[in-house]
Amino acid sequence: MLNFDFYNPTQILFGKGRIADLSKVVPADARVLVLYGGGSIKSNGVFDEVMAGLAGRTVFEFAGIEPNPSYETLMHAVELVRKEKLDFLLAVGGGSVIDGTKFVAAAVNFEGDPWAILEKRGRNITQALPFGSILTLPATGSEMNDGSVVTRKSLQAKVAFSNKLVFPKFSILDPTKTFSLPVKQIGNGVVDAYAHVMEQYMTYPVNAPVQDRFAEGLLLTLIEEGPKALANPEDYDTRANIMWCATLALNGLIGAGVPQDWSTHMVGHELTALYGLDHAQTLAIVLPSMLRVRKEGKRAKLLQYAERVWNITEGSEDARIEQAIQRTQEFFEKMGVKTRLGDYKLGTQNIDAILKHLESHRMVTLGEQRDVTLDVSRKVLELSL
Ligand SMILES: [Zn+2]
Repeated sequence: MLNFDFYNPTQILFGKGRIADLSKVVPADARVLVLYGGGSIKSNGVFDEVMAGLAGRTVFEFAGIEPNPSYETLMHAVELVRKEKLDFLLAVGGGSVIDGTKFVAAAVNFEGDPWAILEKRGRNITQALPFGSILTLPATGSEMNDGSVVTRKSLQAKVAFSNKLVFPKFSILDPTKTFSLPVKQIGNGVVDAYAHVMEQYMTYPVNAPVQDRFAEGLLLTLIEEGPKALANPEDYDTRANIMWCATLALNGLIGAGVPQDWSTHMVGHELTALYGLDHAQTLAIVLPSMLRVRKEGKRAKLLQYAERVWNITEGSEDARIEQAIQRTQEFFEKMGVKTRLGDYKLGTQNIDAILKHLESHRMVTLGEQRDVTLDVSRKVLELSL
């Protein structure tokens, strides 16, 4: 019996040239901090468009938010906001910049040590600065949700938090701004979005056909459009479809009222924190094995997935399930993301360290049935060698 709240206040401005609309959505008297990552927005024209859109406002910049944004770096942005009394944040970049901006928004006026925000997973946030985003890398969905992941380098800890107060006020999605992304980022983005859908879809049936069909539609679209983006990076329609898929994959819509898994992400976070793998690489490694090891608990949905997404209807149940997982793995490889620990020079010798980190982060009962114990995670990693 479905029973849920759905709340999403983020305004989306989608299309070519929409950065100019900043002048309409950022208050005219705002004191703005523009946060970004590396320098690519300065060479591809995005930065100039942003400045034109913000004309007339006081604008400061904060550069250098890294992939897997670090607490250490973000605290420098917090200091700048406090010192200059800024009151509006604008994230320009991908999920890491947006996630980092969410943390800054919550930390600026937080009473006490802002690390507590991460320790309490965001439950203790009582206010946040308003912020918007300009998305240049479709993948994480952070542009339309209230979640964030921050890494504290000194502790090798990658921690997620969420709170309704850190939804972006608006996000501008201009697909032409994704044309110049490196090929690796295109593949990573598609795999991340795919995994987000799977973590909310691949559980057990609860008679939620709307959520199921939406999820399957997003998966099918990613399977169709992903390879096209690799072949023709400047095809507007392809990039627009992938961009919107990645947003819808994690804006709450497909996950409303249904069981969710997220164990692949949690195990993946440890791989990134320990060994620096890209987020999507960790998902490509973990997801196929996670599905194989937990085949019994997910049997009904795996069979549905095989039929509706991969058109597999022949053979025994186990054969259909294995074929669907195999096709999933091949799709990740086709997107240029390798799916084995060995592809990243990791092996049996690393598994104990990964499990130790899972244990120290209390990630010992993961999954929709809370049955992904450390033993299950070990099996998953062993199967991913
Ligand atoms: Zn992800």
